[in-house]
Amino acid sequence: MTEPREPLIPCDQAVRQLWAYVEASVPPVDHAKITEHLAICQRCCGELEFVKHLRGLLAAQTTDEVPPELIRQLNQFVEEL
Ligand SMILES: [Zn+2]
Repeated sequence: MTEPREPLIPCDQAVRQLWAYVEASVPPVDHAKITEHLAICQRCCGELEFVKHLRGLLAAQTTDEVPPELIRQLNQFVEEL
């Protein structure tokens, strides 16, 4: 017998919350689910690195606005799933 456990969240759900995830602005319960997903999903793990990279770029800018081009890239990734 295996213990009942919640299924992993789907990729699109994980990716949509990645930005909030790296900013630690997701609720702990969601944070845990995303961490669990990233642990087994190579694809989203790569996307996490991408988001972190973007944050680094944004941190180097004087504006705190996310460039539309970056938003578009993120959305494009989600649509490709
Ligand atoms: Zn995934």
